[in-house]
Amino acid sequence: KRVGYALVGLGHLTLEELLPAFGECKKSKPVALVSGSPEKLKKVAQQYGIKPESCYSYDNYEKLKENPEVQAIYIVLPNSMHAEYVIRGAKTGKHILCEKPMAVSAKECELMIDACKKAQVKLMIAYRIQYEPYNRLVRDMVRQNKFGKPKYIQAQNSQSSANPDHWRHKKALAGGGALPDIGLYCLNTARFVLGTEPTEVFGYMHSTPGNPLFKEVEEVMSWQMRFPDGVLVDSITHYNTHDSRFYRVNSEKGWLHLNNAYAYTGQQLQTSHAEGEAKMQNQITIPAKNQFAAEMDHFSECILENKQPHTPGEEGLQDHRIMEAIYQSAREGRPVKLPAVSGTDAFR
Ligand code: NAD
Repeated sequence: KRVGYALVGLGHLTLEELLPAFGECKKSKPVALVSGSPEKLKKVAQQYGIKPESCYSYDNYEKLKENPEVQAIYIVLPNSMHAEYVIRGAKTGKHILCEKPMAVSAKECELMIDACKKAQVKLMIAYRIQYEPYNRLVRDMVRQNKFGKPKYIQAQNSQSSANPDHWRHKKALAGGGALPDIGLYCLNTARFVLGTEPTEVFGYMHSTPGNPLFKEVEEVMSWQMRFPDGVLVDSITHYNTHDSRFYRVNSEKGWLHLNNAYAYTGQQLQTSHAEGEAKMQNQITIPAKNQFAAEMDHFSECILENKQPHTPGEEGLQDHRIMEAIYQSAREGRPVKLPAVSGTDAFR
């Protein structure tokens, strides 16, 4: 049995990744589309065998309520629209999968969680990396202290962009620049791998003056997070450098280095560890899996078996709280402490 999804927003991610990924799903299928463009709706519906009556505009989005084929709604819109479409979607009684970043503020995340609770629907944030096999293997090895206790992580996620008119460069639509868009992967994956929560952050932010790409949003954020037991995570995210997406977990007796860690494909895992006097280097290869298919099938399984998703709204809320502290630190030029939280790891 497959859960039927309505995809909201027919942009790059939906067309290039999500719709093709359904072909590799075992428990999920696309059954409805929501878009502001009737031409795009017609073309994409034909391509994926979706009925014309299951195509909706943003205005009649609520009509999804009357479509029994739809059990889940997947929000794939610019970040500032997530809250509105999750809250309106919850009122249709359908379960909601929402793209990252969850919203543009922690306050919005709270409203989204409350709306889904009130409507008694599940809410999951699409942290695809938590469903990707290499990242999960690193998580397992680190949590099992495979090379002794983890001491620090270095992470970076950087890319370049060229279009200052794109919503990603507008503060009102994106919420921020490199940090919430791609730096979020360094942040969320570190929490996932360590299974603990940061207690303090320090951020440094910069935008090149006069560059129209970074008039409203930051070009680079470099930040450190202090975790329990003195574990440190040092991250950088940049919107104006060649692609670079890796992290390295440095432990007492070895390290794990995941190259292309946050990419859609092509993860490469290298390890080094001490064995007596010898220093061993290894390349670990495991079968790859489509991350988007794994993520959607996980949500479908949660719906079919009435389970809590691994990455619920609370997971997105925690990331937004941490990002707000990083921005505050960068603005004020001092470390910012985070309130203690417990329980988020239970979801992962
Ligand atoms: P996109 O610009 O390619 O698509 C956005 C869609 O929203 C378009 O179809 C656009 O027409 C529609 N839209 C509706 N109102 C709009 C408005 N006011 N301004 C601009 N567009 C509007 O973006 P995308 O890359 O598909 O990103 C969509 C969401 O998915 C974002 O939240 C993004 O962070 C997330 N995303 C996640 C991943 C991932 O790996 N999980 C990758 C890319 C994007």
